[in-house]
Amino acid sequence: MGKQNGSCWWCVKAFKWVPVIFILTIVFWSYYAYVVQLCYYTIDSYIQKTLYLIFFHIFIAMFLWSYWKTVFTDLISVPEVFKVPLSEVEKLQQAQSEEAQCAILERLGQNLPVSNRTIRGAIRFCDKCQLIKPDRAHHCSVCRACVLKMDHHCPWVNNCVAYHNYKFFILFLGYALIYCVFIASTTLQYFIHFWKGELDGMGKFHILFLFFIALMFAVSLNSLFFYHCYLILHNRSTLEAFRPPMFRMGKDKDGFNIGKYNNFQEVFGENKKLWFLPIFTSEF
Ligand SMILES: [Zn+2]
Ligand SMILES: [Zn+2]
Repeated sequence: MGKQNGSCWWCVKAFKWVPVIFILTIVFWSYYAYVVQLCYYTIDSYIQKTLYLIFFHIFIAMFLWSYWKTVFTDLISVPEVFKVPLSEVEKLQQAQSEEAQCAILERLGQNLPVSNRTIRGAIRFCDKCQLIKPDRAHHCSVCRACVLKMDHHCPWVNNCVAYHNYKFFILFLGYALIYCVFIASTTLQYFIHFWKGELDGMGKFHILFLFFIALMFAVSLNSLFFYHCYLILHNRSTLEAFRPPMFRMGKDKDGFNIGKYNNFQEVFGENKKLWFLPIFTSEF
């Protein structure tokens, strides 16, 4: 992870939490608007109130649990065997030509399970972390580390979305989508009452905004969630979808595709009971 350097380090670190605080603020307000303003003050039927509250609490719990795990799961470090000794790093830096560097890297990586190459066909080396990059790993300039199976760095979770938390991220998108669709569909009739002038008091503004915000988030989450479902089934990270991975034989956008079910299992694991819980079960 990142090293402290410069007096602004703590300011930058604090600033990165702003999007997470923004999301949590909206979620906590939505809790107040739904539970207090809608269920407590607006809905008359006791049965309807109870059912709405039960489902609401299940969805918000799953959503916040997945979000928490996406944000607070630490990166998994690149295994020690990929680290390049200082003496070899010096040789690389002193190499006279690109061919000489390639030859050194080829020798260093000969016993490592690496099939990804650079555009020029060389073994991938990170000069910042001083290691041979494992397949699908990329250096994240925000996390200041090489990240295994990196998907992208997400400011909304203030973390890299990668091997260590990709399953949690997908569940977070899925449960957030269910949460928003549930809120939008259960507030719709009260939203219509509002337009007809049948709803009074301050609560109507909370319910009005709740409907709009839930709908807005549902639309944007919908495309993101289904795009990632497509990526999982094709075994591609977001980075690989934009730039196909390079191999010795050249580019191959399906280089890691092992069939849809196996691709799914690579992220969600074999145990079906744990598929929909934010518990780490990914395979490599
Ligand atoms: Zn690196
Ligand atoms: Zn990152």
